[in-house]
Amino acid sequence: RKNDAVPVTRDLLRGMPLPHPGEEADKDGRGRVLVIGGSVEVPGALLLAGTAALRAGAGKLQMATCRSVAPHLGLAVPEALVLGLRETAEGGIAADCVDMLCGRASRCDAVLIGPGMMDKQAVADLTAALVAGLDGEGGPALVIDAEALMGLNGANEALCRRGGRTIITPHAGEMAGLSGISREEVEADPPAAARHVAELHRVIVVLKGACTHIVTPDGRMWAYDGGNVGLATSGSGDTLAGVIAGLAARGADPAQAAIWGVHLHGEAGNRLARRGPLGFLARELLAQVPEIMAELSA
Ligand code: AMP
Ligand code: MG
Repeated sequence: RKNDAVPVTRDLLRGMPLPHPGEEADKDGRGRVLVIGGSVEVPGALLLAGTAALRAGAGKLQMATCRSVAPHLGLAVPEALVLGLRETAEGGIAADCVDMLCGRASRCDAVLIGPGMMDKQAVADLTAALVAGLDGEGGPALVIDAEALMGLNGANEALCRRGGRTIITPHAGEMAGLSGISREEVEADPPAAARHVAELHRVIVVLKGACTHIVTPDGRMWAYDGGNVGLATSGSGDTLAGVIAGLAARGADPAQAAIWGVHLHGEAGNRLARRGPLGFLARELLAQVPEIMAELSA
């Protein structure tokens, strides 16, 4: 079996241009994105992910988080509609909100779940129920990140029925957790680990690290190693997940959204690293994205 990954380069991206809205488009036509996550302990992750989706060019942002966080998040991200959901004793989103979320999600073009979620059991339950509720080949693209990845094993059949419209974004530790092997085993052969999960759940896997592998359910693979260690910083993954969701919302196909998102995130880090290789913030990546995207689209 071929283990060669196609390198993610500027030329590759130029050969798969992003869909561009017509000048007459309104914000709904530009792409609607729903971002679900956050917790009392990590209230800011959705700020990063949601803003990232707008920076990637989506037109309309909704964010769903636990109730006590919602008003603060709404003021921190004045561009968004914010839903405050019932909160568990552990300060997470209660899983019984899923019907309402599925209703919202089905009217969006892309949905991201995971950033900043902390209450493990509630997250796994909510994620599995969301995937089941979005069952079928139609419906929004779905991006699953962070703690929400632990809901995947309870959602295998529904994921398979989604026909590759789901993107997951684990780092090596999360990949180990969801595939039941050790982190060392994942790191010994990342492409093999990514291929296994992509095939098992019929999802696009973005296995993050110093080199990030992107694998489709049918075994196509790309690799990006153009970033820098400054990207290994709190909140970095939340911005990546948001960019991918934003690109999917504006109509990129899921593999294209993953490939472009990984490159934009890495290149944003490279621009910040010119002013200092360490110490840039995840939130600073966001403002870099439009210009990089425009240069690659020219
Ligand atoms: P997370 O661990 O979810 O915050 O995601 C971290 C992000 O930073 C991912 O996009 C990784 O690919 C990226 N990253 C982490 N470490 C490195 C590194 N040493 N070099 C380049 N990118 C990295
Ligand atoms: Mg992360």
